[in-house]
Amino acid sequence: MEFIPWFLPGAYLTPYLCTNCGFWQKHFTVPPTCPVCTDFRHTPPDDGFRFLTPEAVAAEVSTVWTGEDTDIVTFSTEPCVGIGPNGYLIRRPDGNVFFDGTAHYGLEALDLIASLGGIRWLTASHPHAYGALWQLQERFAPTVVIQVKDLPWTNAFQTAWPLDESLTLAPGLTLIHTAGHFAGHSVLHWADKRTLFAGDMLKFHGTAGLSTHKGFNRKIPMSHAEIRRYKEVVQGLEFDTVYTTFETAPCTQADVLRLFDRQLAGPPFFGPVPMED
Ligand SMILES: [Zn+2]
Ligand SMILES: [Zn+2]
Repeated sequence: MEFIPWFLPGAYLTPYLCTNCGFWQKHFTVPPTCPVCTDFRHTPPDDGFRFLTPEAVAAEVSTVWTGEDTDIVTFSTEPCVGIGPNGYLIRRPDGNVFFDGTAHYGLEALDLIASLGGIRWLTASHPHAYGALWQLQERFAPTVVIQVKDLPWTNAFQTAWPLDESLTLAPGLTLIHTAGHFAGHSVLHWADKRTLFAGDMLKFHGTAGLSTHKGFNRKIPMSHAEIRRYKEVVQGLEFDTVYTTFETAPCTQADVLRLFDRQLAGPPFFGPVPMED
């Protein structure tokens, strides 16, 4: 059945992109404020908000991608918009999954995704990584899964499957609620590929190592109870490669547990821990 996007509630509203953070919201006029920028984790722009319509974004931004010939195609924008999250198309014979999202998908990018089989499941770790999720929903009509505690951030799109604690999207591919960075923060584990899509649970800092944070811009660390929950999740997962919302790097369960144990050994702290002792 062909998907008819104007059946969605709010389909007559205009999507607006906040250029400071990259968050989209639908409104009947230019939004008065951006909920992500005014959230405690972030900072509003010094010189006022700037909101762009989809047409204005398309005129200023191109979508680029890597890994077209592999199982994971990574999408981003040039120039970077807002905080610049990546989107990951996970290619599977039983239906593709799209996790996290970049701020804009040009027609070539959408046509590429269509040529690779479209999208069966569409989900994201947390609101910083929604990107233009609404564009993928309108084009491909996937099942949109969002953790129930993050539903207040989903003004720009429609959730079909509110996630509780975990959901197996396909054999060996599991979405798991971690909480922490956001109340609904979730990660995606691809067991066969020993790959963890970690969202903003983790951040790579090159040779300086690996960190975790409650609020990156404001340098707010995670609480001990939140770290204990992260640890509980990671202890059940095996992986060699981690895709965060922004970076990809070789990284194992032992590397991540070392970070969490350092966090739990003293006062909460913001900043990286070396991945090798
Ligand atoms: Zn914003
Ligand atoms: Zn984040």
